[in-house]
Amino acid sequence: MFGDIFGDFFGGGSRRGASNGPMKGANLRTSVRITFEEAVFGCEKEIDMVLKDECTTCGGTGAKPGTSPETCTKCGGKGKVVFSQQSLFGMVQNVQTCPECNGSGKIIKDRCTSCRGTGYTSSRKKIKVSIPAGIDNGQSVRIREKGEPGVNGGPRGDLLVEVIVSSHPIFQRQDMNIFSTAPISFAQAVLGGETRISTVDGDVIYEVKPGTQTDTRIRLKGKGVPSLRNKNIRGDQYVTLVVQVPTSLSAEAKEALRAFDAVSGDSLHTGAGEGIKQEKHHKKRGFFKKED
Ligand SMILES: [Zn+2]
Ligand SMILES: [Zn+2]
Repeated sequence: MFGDIFGDFFGGGSRRGASNGPMKGANLRTSVRITFEEAVFGCEKEIDMVLKDECTTCGGTGAKPGTSPETCTKCGGKGKVVFSQQSLFGMVQNVQTCPECNGSGKIIKDRCTSCRGTGYTSSRKKIKVSIPAGIDNGQSVRIREKGEPGVNGGPRGDLLVEVIVSSHPIFQRQDMNIFSTAPISFAQAVLGGETRISTVDGDVIYEVKPGTQTDTRIRLKGKGVPSLRNKNIRGDQYVTLVVQVPTSLSAEAKEALRAFDAVSGDSLHTGAGEGIKQEKHHKKRGFFKKED
């Protein structure tokens, strides 16, 4: 149903020339855009395609009803003509598509008016596409026998639908795994506690461990993308916990933070840490204004 993405780019043997045997029609290609979640869980889509069908008026011959195509006299129905040419190395034989019948081997004197002699009519059709859970951007779904009609009773070609997956504001994907970031507060990072994390299955509550550093990556098992072969097998979600630094604290909160600092190392007064030392050095040379 899907999977063999390449393989018959050239329409499964439709280039066999003017043989009279049944030939499979050429494949058609199109694309469909789906959301990140639709790729994860699979979806049904309907696409509009203009498909050729054998003309019902003439039965695909291209000739007006009551008449029939005549064998091309120039090529004798072979669709190819051989001509000889004098070259430096003697006579050379060249094979060329018959210019009279364009390789069909037949000449239509009275054209069918429904198809203007082509033997085919085109119409817009709605085609259902089942997109399997786990499909990734750029992969194709093959729909059998929705391509060009076959010749001389051969089967239709296939329709290859390339799937374009839109990017997601929160989730990134790599194969079967999903990646995201989630903010946690300084207090949650220090003390631990519950935080809500978005997954493709909805929010989950995660218990942050006390003493979690920023950029800690956690794994939510089975919250990734299903395997294309077995949708019960799922990848994981990797979430990077990012400790948020508050930018607009109330006077009260700032006071509480200063009090916290005073009893936990007093970095505001002892100048602990490399960055603060450098700042003091600069101050001496007058790069910074004095603070109050
Ligand atoms: Zn016709
Ligand atoms: Zn011909």
